[in-house]
Amino acid sequence: MAQKILIVEDEENIAQLLHLYLEKEGYETQMAPDGGKAVELFRSFDPDLVLLDIMLPVMDGWSVLKKIREESKTPVIMLTAKGETADRVTGLEQGADDYIVKPFETKEVLARIRAVLRRTLGESEGTGEKKLAFDKLTINLDAYELLVDGKRVDTPPKELELLYHLASSPNRVFTRNQLLDEVWGFDYFGDSRTVDVHIKRLREKLEGVSTAWSLKTVWGVGYKFEVGPA
Ligand code: CA
Repeated sequence: MAQKILIVEDEENIAQLLHLYLEKEGYETQMAPDGGKAVELFRSFDPDLVLLDIMLPVMDGWSVLKKIREESKTPVIMLTAKGETADRVTGLEQGADDYIVKPFETKEVLARIRAVLRRTLGESEGTGEKKLAFDKLTINLDAYELLVDGKRVDTPPKELELLYHLASSPNRVFTRNQLLDEVWGFDYFGDSRTVDVHIKRLREKLEGVSTAWSLKTVWGVGYKFEVGPA
C-alpha cells in the first residue's frame, strides 16, 4: 500500500510540483492550501507524513504542528524560508522531525521524506536493546561502553548518552536545548555551553575514525550525527 503524504502549502506552484513528483515516486498525496484545511485533511486522510509550510492562510504552520502533536506522532517536515534559522530551532523544539529550506530541489525533499519515514519506522520496531553499530563504532548504552575501531574508549556517562541520543536518530538535527532536555533532563541547571563542551570531547575521541559517519555542527541550529547514503 502506498504511503500517504499530506502537502500543506499555499503556493500553488510548489504544492503542484511536490504533488506530481511524489505521486510519480509512488506516494499517495493530498494538498491543503491553508492551515484549517490541513488539520481537517490530517484527520480524514490520515497521512504517514506531513510536509508543512509555515506562512499559511487561516492558521499558520506552527498552529497546525501544535494541533497535530496534540493527537499524534506522525512525522512532520517543516518547509522554512531561507535564512530563518530561528524558525528551524522553533520547529524542532515544537516537535517537527526535520525541516527543508526553500527554495529546495525535489530530489532533496524525497531524500528527507525517505530518511524520516525510515527513522520513524525503525523506532516503532525497536528491539529494546540499547546498542547502536556503525562503521568502526559501537555505542552500547546497556553496558555503557564505547568501542571505536574495535577498542574500548573510556567515556563519561553523559558523553555516551549524548552520542547515543544523536546516533539513534541519524541525520536528525537536535537543538542544544533539546539535547539538554532529552539527555540531561528538565531539572538540569546547565546552559547550552554544556552541550558544546561534551560534543568537543566526543569529537576528540571520534575524529578521523570513519568517513561513513560524523558528528556535525549545524550552524545556528545545533548538532546531528550524520550518516552517509547507504
Ligand atoms: Ca506559504
